[in-house]
Amino acid sequence: MTKETNTIAAHPCFDKEAKHSHARVHLPVAPSCNIQCNYCNRQFDCVNESRPGVTSTVLKPFQAFEYFRALHDKLDNLSVVGIAGPGDPFANAEETLETMERIKSAYPDKLFCVSTNGLNLFPHIDKLAQVGVSHVTITINAIDPAITASVYKWVRFNKKVYRGIEGAKVLLEQQLKCIPALKEKGIIVKINSVIMPGINDEHIVEVARVCADLGADVFNCIPMIATKGTEFENLKQPDSKMVFKTRMQVSEHIELMSHCSRCRADAAGLLGKDLKDTHVMLKEFAKREPFTEQERPYVAVATREGLLVNMHLGEAKSFYIYRQSPKGFQFVEERAAPPTGTGDNRWLDMAKLMKDCRALLVSGVGENPKVIINSCGTRIIEMTGLIDEGLDGIYNHKPIRSIAKQDAFRCGSNCKGNAQGCA
Ligand code: SF4
Ligand code: SF4
Repeated sequence: MTKETNTIAAHPCFDKEAKHSHARVHLPVAPSCNIQCNYCNRQFDCVNESRPGVTSTVLKPFQAFEYFRALHDKLDNLSVVGIAGPGDPFANAEETLETMERIKSAYPDKLFCVSTNGLNLFPHIDKLAQVGVSHVTITINAIDPAITASVYKWVRFNKKVYRGIEGAKVLLEQQLKCIPALKEKGIIVKINSVIMPGINDEHIVEVARVCADLGADVFNCIPMIATKGTEFENLKQPDSKMVFKTRMQVSEHIELMSHCSRCRADAAGLLGKDLKDTHVMLKEFAKREPFTEQERPYVAVATREGLLVNMHLGEAKSFYIYRQSPKGFQFVEERAAPPTGTGDNRWLDMAKLMKDCRALLVSGVGENPKVIINSCGTRIIEMTGLIDEGLDGIYNHKPIRSIAKQDAFRCGSNCKGNAQGCA
Protein backbone atom coordinates (compact mmCIF):
# COMPACT_ATOMS: atom_id res chain seq x y z
CA MET A 1 0.00 0.00 0.00
CA THR A 2 1.41 3.43 -0.91
CA LYS A 3 1.63 6.28 1.58
CA GLU A 4 -1.24 8.01 -0.21
CA THR A 5 -3.69 5.09 -0.16
CA ASN A 6 -2.72 4.52 3.43
CA THR A 7 -3.60 8.08 4.46
CA ILE A 8 -6.79 8.05 2.39
CA ALA A 9 -7.84 4.92 4.29
CA ALA A 10 -7.67 6.69 7.65
CA HIS A 11 -9.44 9.85 6.52
CA PRO A 12 -13.19 9.89 6.97
CA CYS A 13 -13.73 12.43 4.18
CA PHE A 14 -11.76 10.45 1.62
CA ASP A 15 -12.74 6.90 2.52
CA LYS A 16 -16.36 5.80 2.98
CA GLU A 17 -15.39 3.05 5.42
CA ALA A 18 -13.32 5.36 7.61
CA LYS A 19 -16.38 7.63 7.79
CA HIS A 20 -17.89 5.25 10.37
CA SER A 21 -14.76 4.70 12.42
CA HIS A 22 -12.51 7.78 12.26
CA ALA A 23 -13.46 11.17 13.64
CA ARG A 24 -12.23 14.58 12.53
CA VAL A 25 -12.19 17.99 14.10
CA HIS A 26 -12.18 21.37 12.44
CA LEU A 27 -10.34 24.02 14.40
CA PRO A 28 -11.80 27.48 13.78
CA VAL A 29 -8.60 29.54 13.88
CA ALA A 30 -8.94 31.42 10.58
CA PRO A 31 -11.49 34.26 10.79
CA SER A 32 -10.50 36.49 7.82
CA CYS A 33 -10.87 35.94 4.12
CA ASN A 34 -8.96 37.31 1.15
CA ILE A 35 -11.72 37.01 -1.45
CA GLN A 36 -15.45 37.66 -1.55
CA CYS A 37 -17.48 34.87 -3.10
CA ASN A 38 -20.88 35.96 -4.36
CA TYR A 39 -22.57 33.11 -2.49
CA CYS A 40 -20.93 33.86 0.86
CA ASN A 41 -22.27 35.96 3.66
CA ARG A 42 -19.28 36.63 5.89
CA GLN A 43 -21.45 36.54 8.97
CA PHE A 44 -21.55 32.79 8.48
CA ASP A 45 -18.97 30.04 8.08
CA CYS A 46 -17.11 29.58 4.83
CA VAL A 47 -19.31 27.46 2.59
CA ASN A 48 -16.29 25.95 0.87
CA GLU A 49 -16.30 23.27 3.53
CA SER A 50 -19.18 24.10 5.72
CA ARG A 51 -22.87 24.65 5.85
CA PRO A 52 -23.72 28.27 6.53
CA GLY A 53 -25.79 28.63 9.65
CA VAL A 54 -24.23 29.75 12.86
CA THR A 55 -21.13 31.85 13.19
CA SER A 56 -18.31 29.94 14.81
CA THR A 57 -16.33 30.87 17.84
CA VAL A 58 -12.80 31.69 16.74
CA LEU A 59 -9.86 30.25 18.69
CA LYS A 60 -6.28 31.41 19.01
CA PRO A 61 -3.68 28.72 18.21
CA PHE A 62 -2.91 27.94 21.88
CA GLN A 63 -6.65 27.71 22.61
CA ALA A 64 -7.14 25.44 19.59
CA PHE A 65 -4.38 23.19 20.90
CA GLU A 66 -6.01 22.96 24.34
CA TYR A 67 -9.39 22.33 22.74
CA PHE A 68 -7.93 19.60 20.56
CA ARG A 69 -6.38 17.93 23.61
CA ALA A 70 -9.70 17.96 25.43
CA LEU A 71 -11.46 16.45 22.43
CA HIS A 72 -8.74 13.88 22.02
CA ASP A 73 -9.31 12.79 25.62
CA LYS A 74 -13.03 12.54 24.88
CA LEU A 75 -12.98 10.72 21.52
CA ASP A 76 -11.36 7.34 20.92
CA ASN A 77 -10.91 7.73 17.22
CA LEU A 78 -9.93 11.32 16.49
CA SER A 79 -7.63 10.91 13.50
CA VAL A 80 -7.92 14.09 11.42
CA VAL A 81 -7.26 17.73 12.28
CA GLY A 82 -8.76 20.06 9.68
CA ILE A 83 -8.61 23.82 9.30
CA ALA A 84 -11.37 25.14 7.11
CA GLY A 85 -12.31 28.59 8.30
CA PRO A 86 -14.53 30.24 9.24
CA GLY A 87 -12.63 32.39 6.67
CA ASP A 88 -9.64 31.13 4.70
CA PRO A 89 -6.73 29.28 6.38
CA PHE A 90 -4.12 31.17 4.34
CA ALA A 91 -5.64 34.59 4.84
CA ASN A 92 -4.67 33.65 8.41
CA ALA A 93 -1.55 31.67 7.54
CA GLU A 94 0.32 32.38 10.77
CA GLU A 95 -2.51 31.10 12.96
CA THR A 96 -3.13 28.10 10.72
CA LEU A 97 0.50 26.99 10.68
CA GLU A 98 1.10 27.63 14.36
CA THR A 99 -1.96 25.56 15.27
CA MET A 100 -0.84 22.63 13.15
CA GLU A 101 2.75 22.79 14.39
CA ARG A 102 1.64 22.74 18.02
CA ILE A 103 -0.61 19.74 17.49
CA LYS A 104 1.85 17.90 15.28
CA SER A 105 4.59 18.05 17.89
CA ALA A 106 2.34 16.49 20.54
CA TYR A 107 0.31 14.15 18.30
CA PRO A 108 2.54 13.13 15.39
CA ASP A 109 0.20 10.34 14.28
CA LYS A 110 -2.71 12.63 13.32
CA LEU A 111 -3.59 13.47 9.74
CA PHE A 112 -3.69 17.17 8.88
CA CYS A 113 -6.03 18.66 6.36
CA VAL A 114 -6.74 22.20 5.14
CA SER A 115 -9.46 23.59 2.94
CA THR A 116 -8.81 26.85 1.12
CA ASN A 117 -9.78 29.07 -1.78
CA GLY A 118 -6.14 28.66 -2.89
CA LEU A 119 -5.33 32.34 -3.36
CA ASN A 120 -2.54 32.46 -0.80
CA LEU A 121 -1.72 28.75 -0.60
CA PHE A 122 1.31 28.53 -2.90
CA PRO A 123 3.90 30.27 -0.65
CA HIS A 124 3.04 27.89 2.18
CA ILE A 125 3.23 24.54 0.42
CA ASP A 126 6.77 23.72 1.58
CA LYS A 127 5.77 24.48 5.15
CA LEU A 128 2.63 22.37 4.87
CA ALA A 129 4.69 19.41 3.72
CA GLN A 130 7.13 20.01 6.57
CA VAL A 131 4.33 20.03 9.14
CA GLY A 132 2.98 16.84 7.59
CA VAL A 133 -0.26 18.04 6.03
CA SER A 134 -1.54 15.10 4.00
CA HIS A 135 -4.76 16.47 2.47
CA VAL A 136 -5.51 19.85 0.89
CA THR A 137 -8.84 20.94 -0.57
CA ILE A 138 -9.00 23.88 -2.99
CA THR A 139 -12.29 25.38 -4.08
CA ILE A 140 -12.13 26.12 -7.80
CA ASN A 141 -15.46 27.15 -9.25
CA ALA A 142 -14.33 27.88 -12.82
CA ILE A 143 -11.21 27.86 -14.93
CA ASP A 144 -12.49 30.38 -17.49
CA PRO A 145 -11.66 33.90 -16.18
CA ALA A 146 -14.95 35.29 -17.54
CA ILE A 147 -16.93 32.76 -15.45
CA THR A 148 -14.63 33.12 -12.44
CA ALA A 149 -15.18 36.89 -12.58
CA SER A 150 -18.92 36.39 -12.15
CA VAL A 151 -18.43 34.28 -9.00
CA TYR A 152 -16.24 36.66 -6.98
CA LYS A 153 -16.81 40.28 -6.04
CA TRP A 154 -13.16 40.99 -5.27
CA VAL A 155 -9.84 39.29 -4.65
CA ARG A 156 -7.19 40.71 -2.31
CA PHE A 157 -3.71 39.55 -3.19
CA ASN A 158 -0.39 40.95 -1.92
CA LYS A 159 -2.24 43.84 -0.26
CA LYS A 160 -3.97 44.91 -3.50
CA VAL A 161 -7.66 44.46 -4.31
CA TYR A 162 -8.55 43.18 -7.80
CA ARG A 163 -12.00 42.99 -9.38
CA GLY A 164 -13.60 41.51 -12.51
CA ILE A 165 -11.46 39.64 -15.04
CA GLU A 166 -8.27 41.01 -13.51
CA GLY A 167 -9.14 39.50 -10.12
CA ALA A 168 -10.26 36.24 -11.74
CA LYS A 169 -6.92 35.87 -13.51
CA VAL A 170 -4.96 36.48 -10.31
CA LEU A 171 -7.05 33.91 -8.43
CA LEU A 172 -6.87 31.27 -11.17
CA GLU A 173 -3.14 31.59 -11.63
CA GLN A 174 -2.59 31.02 -7.92
CA GLN A 175 -5.11 28.19 -7.61
CA LEU A 176 -3.95 26.15 -10.59
CA LYS A 177 -0.24 26.29 -9.88
CA CYS A 178 -0.86 24.83 -6.43
CA ILE A 179 -2.11 21.47 -7.73
CA PRO A 180 1.18 20.19 -9.24
CA ALA A 181 3.16 21.81 -6.42
CA LEU A 182 1.11 19.93 -3.81
CA LYS A 183 1.38 16.68 -5.74
CA GLU A 184 5.14 17.09 -5.89
CA LYS A 185 5.09 16.98 -2.08
CA GLY A 186 2.94 13.84 -2.06
CA ILE A 187 -0.11 15.68 -0.70
CA ILE A 188 -3.59 14.44 -1.62
CA VAL A 189 -5.51 17.15 -3.48
CA LYS A 190 -9.27 17.45 -3.46
CA ILE A 191 -11.04 20.06 -5.58
CA ASN A 192 -14.37 21.50 -4.53
CA SER A 193 -16.66 23.19 -7.02
CA VAL A 194 -19.85 24.91 -5.95
CA ILE A 195 -22.60 24.26 -8.52
CA MET A 196 -24.27 27.59 -9.37
CA PRO A 197 -27.12 27.19 -11.90
CA GLY A 198 -26.68 29.38 -14.97
CA ILE A 199 -23.21 30.43 -13.81
CA ASN A 200 -20.95 27.38 -13.88
CA ASP A 201 -23.11 24.23 -13.96
CA GLU A 202 -22.22 23.52 -17.59
CA HIS A 203 -18.59 24.42 -16.97
CA ILE A 204 -17.75 22.28 -13.91
CA VAL A 205 -16.87 19.29 -16.05
CA GLU A 206 -14.16 21.42 -17.65
CA VAL A 207 -12.86 22.39 -14.20
CA ALA A 208 -12.68 18.68 -13.35
CA ARG A 209 -10.85 17.84 -16.58
CA VAL A 210 -8.24 20.56 -16.13
CA CYS A 211 -7.68 19.81 -12.45
CA ALA A 212 -7.37 16.08 -13.13
CA ASP A 213 -4.77 16.83 -15.84
CA LEU A 214 -2.84 18.88 -13.30
CA GLY A 215 -2.82 15.91 -10.91
CA ALA A 216 -5.79 16.47 -8.55
CA ASP A 217 -6.97 13.25 -6.88
CA VAL A 218 -10.61 13.75 -5.93
CA PHE A 219 -13.45 16.09 -6.91
CA ASN A 220 -16.41 17.25 -4.88
CA CYS A 221 -19.43 18.97 -6.46
CA ILE A 222 -21.23 21.04 -3.84
CA PRO A 223 -24.71 22.38 -4.57
CA MET A 224 -24.83 26.11 -3.84
CA ILE A 225 -27.02 27.29 -0.99
CA ALA A 226 -28.64 30.63 -1.77
CA THR A 227 -27.65 32.55 1.35
CA LYS A 228 -29.48 35.68 2.44
CA GLY A 229 -27.56 38.93 2.09
CA THR A 230 -25.37 37.69 -0.79
CA GLU A 231 -25.18 38.60 -4.49
CA PHE A 232 -26.59 35.16 -5.28
CA GLU A 233 -29.38 35.12 -2.72
CA ASN A 234 -31.99 34.98 -5.48
CA LEU A 235 -30.16 32.46 -7.65
CA LYS A 236 -32.05 29.19 -8.03
CA GLN A 237 -30.42 26.40 -6.06
CA PRO A 238 -29.39 23.41 -8.17
CA ASP A 239 -31.97 20.62 -8.18
CA SER A 240 -31.02 17.00 -7.66
CA LYS A 241 -31.15 16.34 -11.42
CA MET A 242 -28.54 19.01 -12.07
CA VAL A 243 -26.34 17.79 -9.22
CA PHE A 244 -26.56 14.20 -10.47
CA LYS A 245 -25.80 15.17 -14.06
CA THR A 246 -22.81 17.31 -13.04
CA ARG A 247 -21.43 14.54 -10.85
CA MET A 248 -21.80 11.97 -13.62
CA GLN A 249 -19.96 14.23 -16.08
CA VAL A 250 -17.20 14.92 -13.57
CA SER A 251 -16.75 11.24 -12.72
CA GLU A 252 -15.59 10.61 -16.30
CA HIS A 253 -12.46 12.63 -15.56
CA ILE A 254 -11.65 12.22 -11.88
CA GLU A 255 -12.64 10.26 -8.79
CA LEU A 256 -15.76 11.72 -7.30
CA MET A 257 -16.36 12.33 -3.62
CA SER A 258 -19.92 11.37 -2.93
CA HIS A 259 -20.25 11.35 0.85
CA CYS A 260 -19.33 14.93 1.73
CA SER A 261 -21.24 16.10 4.79
CA ARG A 262 -20.59 19.81 4.24
CA CYS A 263 -19.41 20.20 7.78
CA ARG A 264 -19.10 23.42 9.69
CA ALA A 265 -15.75 25.11 10.27
CA ASP A 266 -15.94 23.92 13.89
CA ALA A 267 -17.34 20.42 13.30
CA ALA A 268 -16.06 17.56 15.47
CA GLY A 269 -16.79 13.84 15.57
CA LEU A 270 -17.73 11.26 12.97
CA LEU A 271 -18.92 12.63 9.61
CA GLY A 272 -22.66 13.15 9.82
CA LYS A 273 -22.62 12.43 13.58
CA ASP A 274 -21.03 15.52 15.03
CA LEU A 275 -20.62 15.91 18.77
CA LYS A 276 -23.44 18.06 20.09
CA ASP A 277 -21.72 20.02 22.84
CA THR A 278 -18.67 21.37 21.00
CA HIS A 279 -20.02 24.92 20.82
CA VAL A 280 -20.05 25.00 24.64
CA MET A 281 -16.48 23.68 24.74
CA LEU A 282 -15.40 26.15 22.06
CA LYS A 283 -16.81 29.09 24.00
CA GLU A 284 -15.05 27.92 27.14
CA PHE A 285 -11.69 27.45 25.39
CA ALA A 286 -12.02 30.80 23.60
CA LYS A 287 -11.97 32.47 27.04
CA ARG A 288 -8.73 30.82 28.11
CA GLU A 289 -5.67 32.94 28.71
CA PRO A 290 -2.25 31.54 27.96
CA PHE A 291 -0.41 30.57 31.11
CA THR A 292 3.29 31.05 31.54
CA GLU A 293 5.45 28.20 32.73
CA GLN A 294 6.16 30.21 35.89
CA GLU A 295 2.44 30.44 36.71
CA ARG A 296 1.89 26.68 36.49
CA PRO A 297 5.20 24.95 37.04
CA TYR A 298 3.79 21.76 38.63
CA VAL A 299 1.97 18.56 37.72
CA ALA A 300 -0.26 16.81 40.30
CA VAL A 301 -0.61 13.03 40.39
CA ALA A 302 -3.16 10.70 41.99
CA THR A 303 -0.94 7.83 43.15
CA ARG A 304 -0.76 5.28 45.96
CA GLU A 305 3.00 4.90 46.19
CA GLY A 306 4.63 7.56 44.02
CA LEU A 307 5.58 5.28 41.15
CA LEU A 308 2.38 4.71 39.17
CA VAL A 309 -0.65 6.78 38.23
CA ASN A 310 -3.14 4.44 39.84
CA MET A 311 -5.85 6.35 41.69
CA HIS A 312 -9.19 7.68 40.64
CA LEU A 313 -9.75 11.36 41.36
CA GLY A 314 -12.58 10.69 43.80
CA GLU A 315 -10.65 8.16 45.88
CA ALA A 316 -7.38 10.11 46.17
CA LYS A 317 -6.89 11.48 49.69
CA SER A 318 -3.84 13.40 48.57
CA PHE A 319 -1.86 14.27 45.47
CA TYR A 320 1.85 14.11 44.80
CA ILE A 321 3.19 17.30 43.22
CA TYR A 322 6.11 17.21 40.76
CA ARG A 323 8.11 19.73 38.80
CA GLN A 324 10.69 19.53 36.05
CA SER A 325 14.26 20.50 36.87
CA PRO A 326 17.48 20.33 34.87
CA LYS A 327 18.18 17.07 36.72
CA GLY A 328 14.86 15.47 35.77
CA PHE A 329 11.44 15.29 37.41
CA GLN A 330 11.42 16.15 41.09
CA PHE A 331 8.91 15.37 43.82
CA VAL A 332 7.94 18.67 45.47
CA GLU A 333 5.33 17.86 48.13
CA GLU A 334 2.15 15.96 48.96
CA ARG A 335 -1.10 17.98 49.09
CA ALA A 336 -4.20 16.77 50.94
CA ALA A 337 -7.38 16.52 48.84
CA PRO A 338 -10.38 18.65 49.98
CA PRO A 339 -12.90 16.76 52.17
CA THR A 340 -15.76 14.84 50.56
CA GLY A 341 -19.44 15.59 50.99
CA THR A 342 -19.58 19.12 49.57
CA GLY A 343 -20.88 18.27 46.09
CA ASP A 344 -19.41 20.25 43.22
CA ASN A 345 -17.70 22.62 45.68
CA ARG A 346 -15.20 19.82 46.28
CA TRP A 347 -14.10 20.05 42.65
CA LEU A 348 -13.88 23.83 42.82
CA ASP A 349 -11.71 23.48 45.95
CA MET A 350 -9.62 20.90 44.16
CA ALA A 351 -9.18 23.28 41.20
CA LYS A 352 -7.94 25.93 43.69
CA LEU A 353 -5.55 23.40 45.19
CA MET A 354 -4.16 22.83 41.69
CA LYS A 355 -4.00 26.44 40.58
CA ASP A 356 -0.22 26.25 40.08
CA CYS A 357 -0.45 22.86 38.29
CA ARG A 358 -0.63 22.65 34.52
CA ALA A 359 -1.99 19.09 34.64
CA LEU A 360 -3.40 16.43 36.92
CA LEU A 361 -2.75 12.75 36.17
CA VAL A 362 -5.42 10.32 37.37
CA SER A 363 -6.44 6.76 36.55
CA GLY A 364 -10.08 7.78 36.22
CA VAL A 365 -12.42 10.73 36.68
CA GLY A 366 -16.12 11.50 36.28
CA GLU A 367 -17.43 13.97 33.72
CA ASN A 368 -18.41 16.67 36.23
CA PRO A 369 -15.07 17.13 38.01
CA LYS A 370 -13.28 16.83 34.71
CA VAL A 371 -15.21 19.74 33.21
CA ILE A 372 -14.88 21.88 36.37
CA ILE A 373 -11.15 21.34 36.89
CA ASN A 374 -10.31 21.57 33.17
CA SER A 375 -12.21 24.83 32.88
CA CYS A 376 -10.15 26.28 35.76
CA GLY A 377 -7.02 25.71 33.68
CA THR A 378 -5.63 22.41 35.00
CA ARG A 379 -5.72 19.77 32.31
CA ILE A 380 -6.94 16.38 33.59
CA ILE A 381 -5.37 13.35 31.97
CA GLU A 382 -6.66 9.82 32.47
CA MET A 383 -3.86 7.35 32.19
CA THR A 384 -2.33 4.32 33.82
CA GLY A 385 1.34 3.48 34.02
CA LEU A 386 4.48 5.14 35.24
CA ILE A 387 4.29 8.67 36.62
CA ASP A 388 7.49 9.49 34.74
CA GLU A 389 5.81 8.67 31.42
CA GLY A 390 2.98 11.06 32.20
CA LEU A 391 5.38 13.81 33.30
CA ASP A 392 7.43 13.33 30.14
CA GLY A 393 4.27 13.71 28.07
CA ILE A 394 3.24 16.92 29.82
CA TYR A 395 6.58 18.69 30.09
CA ASN A 396 8.10 17.51 26.82
CA HIS A 397 4.89 17.55 24.74
CA LYS A 398 4.97 13.85 23.99
CA PRO A 399 1.88 11.73 23.40
CA ILE A 400 0.57 10.15 26.59
CA ARG A 401 -0.79 6.64 26.45
CA SER A 402 -4.19 7.48 27.88
CA ILE A 403 -6.40 4.59 28.86
CA ALA A 404 -8.96 3.38 26.35
CA LYS A 405 -12.23 5.11 27.09
CA GLN A 406 -14.10 1.83 27.41
CA ASP A 407 -11.55 0.65 29.99
CA ALA A 408 -11.70 3.85 31.96
CA PHE A 409 -12.55 3.49 35.61
CA ARG A 410 -16.26 3.81 36.17
CA CYS A 411 -17.20 5.71 39.28
CA GLY A 412 -18.66 3.35 41.81
CA SER A 413 -17.34 0.19 40.14
CA ASN A 414 -14.47 -0.35 42.54
CA CYS A 415 -13.97 3.05 44.05
CA LYS A 416 -12.53 2.99 47.53
CA GLY A 417 -13.66 6.51 48.27
CA ASN A 418 -17.28 7.37 48.91
CA ALA A 419 -18.12 6.51 45.30
CA GLN A 420 -20.51 9.42 44.96
CA GLY A 421 -18.41 12.42 44.21
CA CYS A 422 -17.19 12.02 40.66
CA ALA A 423 -20.24 11.39 38.55
S1 SF4 B 1 -13.51 31.73 0.51
FE1 SF4 B 1 -15.00 31.02 2.03
S2 SF4 B 1 -15.06 32.64 3.63
FE2 SF4 B 1 -14.04 33.47 1.82
S3 SF4 B 1 -15.69 34.51 0.75
FE3 SF4 B 1 -15.49 32.49 -0.16
S4 SF4 B 1 -16.98 31.18 0.91
FE4 SF4 B 1 -16.65 33.07 2.13
S1 SF4 C 1 -14.36 18.27 5.90
FE1 SF4 C 1 -12.70 18.99 4.56
S2 SF4 C 1 -11.22 20.07 5.84
FE2 SF4 C 1 -12.60 18.85 7.16
S3 SF4 C 1 -11.56 17.00 7.52
FE3 SF4 C 1 -12.89 16.66 5.76
S4 SF4 C 1 -11.69 17.15 3.93
FE4 SF4 C 1 -10.58 17.97 5.72
